[in-house]
Amino acid sequence: MSELPFRSYASFLRELFPGRREVRKVVLDAGFRCPNLDGTRGTGGCSYCDNRSFSPVAGTRKSVAEQLEEGISRLKAKRPEAGVLAYLQPWTNTYAPLERLRALYSEILAFPGVDGLAIGTRPDCVDEGVRDLLEELAERKPIVLELGLQSANDRTLARIGRGHTAAEWANAWSLFRDGTRAKNSRVSLAAHVILGLPGETLDDWKSTARFLADHPVQSVKIHPLHVVKGTRLAGEWERGEFALPTLGEFARGVAEFAKLLPRETAVERVSGEAPSEMLLAPEWSGDRNAIVSAVLSELERLPAD
Ligand code: SF4
Repeated sequence: MSELPFRSYASFLRELFPGRREVRKVVLDAGFRCPNLDGTRGTGGCSYCDNRSFSPVAGTRKSVAEQLEEGISRLKAKRPEAGVLAYLQPWTNTYAPLERLRALYSEILAFPGVDGLAIGTRPDCVDEGVRDLLEELAERKPIVLELGLQSANDRTLARIGRGHTAAEWANAWSLFRDGTRAKNSRVSLAAHVILGLPGETLDDWKSTARFLADHPVQSVKIHPLHVVKGTRLAGEWERGEFALPTLGEFARGVAEFAKLLPRETAVERVSGEAPSEMLLAPEWSGDRNAIVSAVLSELERLPAD
C-alpha cells in the first residue's frame, strides 16, 4: 500500500512496534464459531460468506501452537528480521467465555517470536468484559481489534444478513474510544468494509467513510465484494438481482472513500484474496496491481483538499 498517498499499514505497524522495520501477520484459526450461524443472531450467515470454507475438518485441525510454529518458521525463512503479528482471522474470535479467551490470547502472546495479536470479530461480540481483557493484555504486547462493519447502511446490513446494525458497531467502538478511554485505551481498532454490496451506490460508500471519520480507527481494510460459489449472494448475482461495480467504479469508490477518512487512518488493503476456484466474480478482484493502479489514477483525478 506504500504506493497510495495515505498512511500505509506498514507505517502504522512500525509505530505500533517501535524498533521493527517490518511486521507481518501470521494467520490463525482457533476454531471459533459465529453467532450469525449458530442461531444466536441468525442461522444463514452473511450472504457472501462461504460457510463451507469455515467448516472444521475433524481430527485434522492443527492446534494454535502448531499453526504458530509453522507460520512463524515460514515467515522467518523468507524474512528473518520481520516481527510477527499473530492474527485470529476466520470466524468470530471473541465469541467464547472470557476465560477461554484469556487462556487463548495469553498463549498466543507468550508464544516465542510473537510480537502482538490482531483479533477479527463482530461488533455484537464485544462487551465490557472483552474490552477489559484486551486492555489488560495490551499492557503486555500490542493488540489490534478488527471489527467487521462492511457498511454503515442498516438497510444493506439487513439485506446481506449481517445480523447487526451500524449502531452496534458504534457501540463496540465506544467501549474503547468514548470519553477518557479515547486517551487511555491501548487497543488499536481496525474496521473492515466491503464496497460493491447489493443495492449500494457511491453515495452509500461515502456515507460509510463519513461514519468511520466520525468513529475514527487506526486502520481500515477495504474489500471489493466477492461472489463466491455456493453462497446466497451467488444466487442473487446469477439471478441478476444486483450488479457488481466495474474495476473503474470500484477504484473511484476507493479513492473517494479513502479521501473522506482522517489522514492518520491507515488503509491496510484495497483488494481481496478469494481462491480463484471459488470465485465467480468480479474477475478483476484478484489483480492487486491493476486495482492499485486504477485507484491511483482516480486519486489523481479527484480535486485536492
Ligand atoms: S460474521 Fe463472518 S463468519 Fe459469521 S456469517 Fe458473517 S462472514 Fe461468516
